[in-house]
Amino acid sequence: MVGDVQLTATVEVFLFALLTAVATGIGALPFLFVKDLTRSWLGASNAVAAGLMLSASFGLLYEGVGYGLLRTLVGASTGLVFIVLVRRFLQRDEHPAVFAQMTDLDARKALLIVGVMTMHSFTEGVGLGVSFGGGIELGLFITLAIAVHNIPEGLAISLVLVPRGVSWSRAAFWSIFSSLPQPLMAVPAFVFVETFKPLLPYGLGFAAGAMIWMVFSELMPDALDEASANLVAIIITLSVLAMVAFQVLIR
Ligand SMILES: [Zn+2]
Repeated sequence: MVGDVQLTATVEVFLFALLTAVATGIGALPFLFVKDLTRSWLGASNAVAAGLMLSASFGLLYEGVGYGLLRTLVGASTGLVFIVLVRRFLQRDEHPAVFAQMTDLDARKALLIVGVMTMHSFTEGVGLGVSFGGGIELGLFITLAIAVHNIPEGLAISLVLVPRGVSWSRAAFWSIFSSLPQPLMAVPAFVFVETFKPLLPYGLGFAAGAMIWMVFSELMPDALDEASANLVAIIITLSVLAMVAFQVLIR
């Protein structure tokens, strides 16, 4: 009997976490209506993506600090070292095959953003599973929070991909793909909640470290290539403010 109850609950956790992944695809939907997002939009859209990601990173850091400052900082430093090494490795790679239709440089950038966003979803999946360990009500609340928070993340991914020639449906696919670790990690985290809980601040910090690096190494320089520093700064500031307001409102 107990085994059956546990199995049903585990399947439920998986399905709820899958729902959060699908929500990420909603972020690509605006591009169904905005047809002519050409390269000239790259400056502005990279600036918006930079603001959204910068703000999201600090959200992760503050969440991690709630569990433990030192573990969060260790995680963030590890995330930074990791992403720097990944970029170095990618530069040696001939051409990332998944974005075959792009130039080398664009394909590398597309792979980096999808990669970073996918990595940070592992931690969110763990957070989701752990929260279900604290009861169905807490779990449902966190599911909703992560699902809604995934929408601007899908938007950030699409903002980087679509001006580089990726269709809205493929951008939606990559957005959902980036959140697939959520259902995959939620299940083991729910079943082995006591093992996973102490690891959360490391994961939250790790994701934040990699994402902050991404903002300043990739998104901002790209934005500055295409638009004036003043415009980029204005857009980033407004995007940070919008994301902070959004994160507070969904809490
Ligand atoms: Zn996130």
